[in-house]
Amino acid sequence: MPRLGSWIEPSPEGIFVRPADAWVDPSEPKARALITHGHADHARGGHGEVWATPETLAIMGVRYGEQTGHPVAYDESFRVGEVEARFVPAGHVLGSAQIVLEHKGERVVVSGDYKRRPDPTCAPFVPVPCDIFITEATFGLPVFRHPDTGAEIDRLLHRLHADPSRCVLVGAYALGKAQRVISELRARGHHEPIYYHGAMERLCTLYEELGVPLGELRHCAGATKAEIAGHIVICPPGALNDRWSRRLPDPVTAMASGWMRIRQRARQRNVELPLVISDHADWDELTQTIREVAPKEVWITHGREDALMHWCMTRQIKARELNLVGYEDEDD
Ligand SMILES: [Zn+2]
Ligand SMILES: [Zn+2]
Repeated sequence: MPRLGSWIEPSPEGIFVRPADAWVDPSEPKARALITHGHADHARGGHGEVWATPETLAIMGVRYGEQTGHPVAYDESFRVGEVEARFVPAGHVLGSAQIVLEHKGERVVVSGDYKRRPDPTCAPFVPVPCDIFITEATFGLPVFRHPDTGAEIDRLLHRLHADPSRCVLVGAYALGKAQRVISELRARGHHEPIYYHGAMERLCTLYEELGVPLGELRHCAGATKAEIAGHIVICPPGALNDRWSRRLPDPVTAMASGWMRIRQRARQRNVELPLVISDHADWDELTQTIREVAPKEVWITHGREDALMHWCMTRQIKARELNLVGYEDEDD
């Protein structure tokens, strides 16, 4: 009998699904690609045919231009070669999907990136029992336990209200994190205009077009320091310490990222107000998810796999690490 999942061939440039003659999230241009979500480490430009959710295709369109795509809604079955496939919500960013692949009586779920906490900007993760669960392990260490998101947002608002002559500048990844922080602020009752860096505009507009309301957003360009004082400003992490921020009224520098759990990372970026808000599963969410999908094998991507491999082994679940290149949401 062939080894479980022998039809799935992980290689450094992605996951090759042989009977579909297609790749999942390849890092090089391929003739046929199935894409879990729009982040640049998963979705590249230049593929021939692309299968993805309509939202992911729209995000790829903004980043790479019009895609030759097959938009497939969540839970709709489709066939690629000899493989039956379907996208299921991953709860990571708008349009993010796990890919459920079935072939010869085996079910493999490629989860892409995921989280289990509620996120007002995307559909919640759905656990799908499977034979092989391919999971990320971005925060795959027991020290990573993300705090309550609402409490982090409250800290941000508290700091904002403490000094109306300043602004709070929040560094947030342009796809997903920025819109989530804005939505979470609205959910906590903050309905003031929020200013943004020009690099945020296209994706914020797209989110709104796809049905995620973000409230009143204003461009920083053209606004005076006096107008921006007392407001929240969102920018890509790379703009936190560059010349651009000099136009702002004495900004309190904040960053929304799972990595803010590590003080050294906050210091490296001169972040005064680290906000631990992540779009990835923390340790408890990773292990809870593996329990729920109850796989025979777990294959692990995104580094930091040792602790999770050990956790699986002590529970008689076979685990292996996949050395895929370039998977790292540095700014999560
Ligand atoms: Zn991602
Ligand atoms: Zn990723």
